[in-house]
Amino acid sequence: MAPFRRFALGLVPVFRETLDALASLVFPAPCRICEATLTTASRIPVCSTCLTSLKPLTGVACQKCGRPFVSAVAAAAPQPLCHLCRRDIYNFDLARSFAAYTDAMVRAIVLLKYHEVTPLGAWFAARLAELVARDPEALAADVVVPVPLHVSRLRERGYNQAELIARPLAKRLGLPLRSYLLVRTRPRPEKLKLTRQERWRTVRGAYAMRSEAKIDKLRVLLVDDVFTTGATLDACARALRKAGAGRVVALTVARVAPEWQPYASPGVAEPAED
Ligand SMILES: [Zn+2]
Ligand SMILES: [Zn+2]
Repeated sequence: MAPFRRFALGLVPVFRETLDALASLVFPAPCRICEATLTTASRIPVCSTCLTSLKPLTGVACQKCGRPFVSAVAAAAPQPLCHLCRRDIYNFDLARSFAAYTDAMVRAIVLLKYHEVTPLGAWFAARLAELVARDPEALAADVVVPVPLHVSRLRERGYNQAELIARPLAKRLGLPLRSYLLVRTRPRPEKLKLTRQERWRTVRGAYAMRSEAKIDKLRVLLVDDVFTTGATLDACARALRKAGAGRVVALTVARVAPEWQPYASPGVAEPAED
């Protein structure tokens, strides 16, 4: 490549970043979650109050799937497992999430999923990296794999929101990103809301490994935006395991708490599953 062209290519992102920062100073945009005026120049279009309201999950939770416990009795058990993990239904070894699926989080996920707010993906990746740093042994991995979208959905949206989190996370952890390992072979049905049973049924066998992919004994960090029923992560983990993965740890930004009511606040619409 010609030296000048290389120089120009290197310059563009820096230049664009400077423009973004200048633009936010000249035209203060409202926070995309609470609509308060943003007073500081940041690449994330969310105010600091909203960002700090997205707090890490700290309560007692199921040792395996990370499901927050509502009952103190379950939490006090010597091996705290939820009713699903006691039946050993999940194919992943462990699942952890950064924060609860609160109204602010629902809006943040919408920004990531439908508005491609890439800097928010990077911010979430930093939170997930902190989660990994707190439990490095249990969450150790060799590769990072985002939950894939069906090709029709990917074409329609133009990007995969799970990859907006997985890519900066892989970079932070110094691990290779392997987006091409998994494919979604069956699209989600058109129906907008799915029941719990339907969620499980539609994703069962909907993911597969690319035929040429080799993952013998690899430890996989599987990344998605929201853990709702765990059906998607389970289906992906099943495909990875079948292909010989040594361990599958699922990481998501948000976790639907058992008592969470969708549409709890007016104007907050739950993002549809992919
Ligand atoms: Zn705000
Ligand atoms: Zn569990």
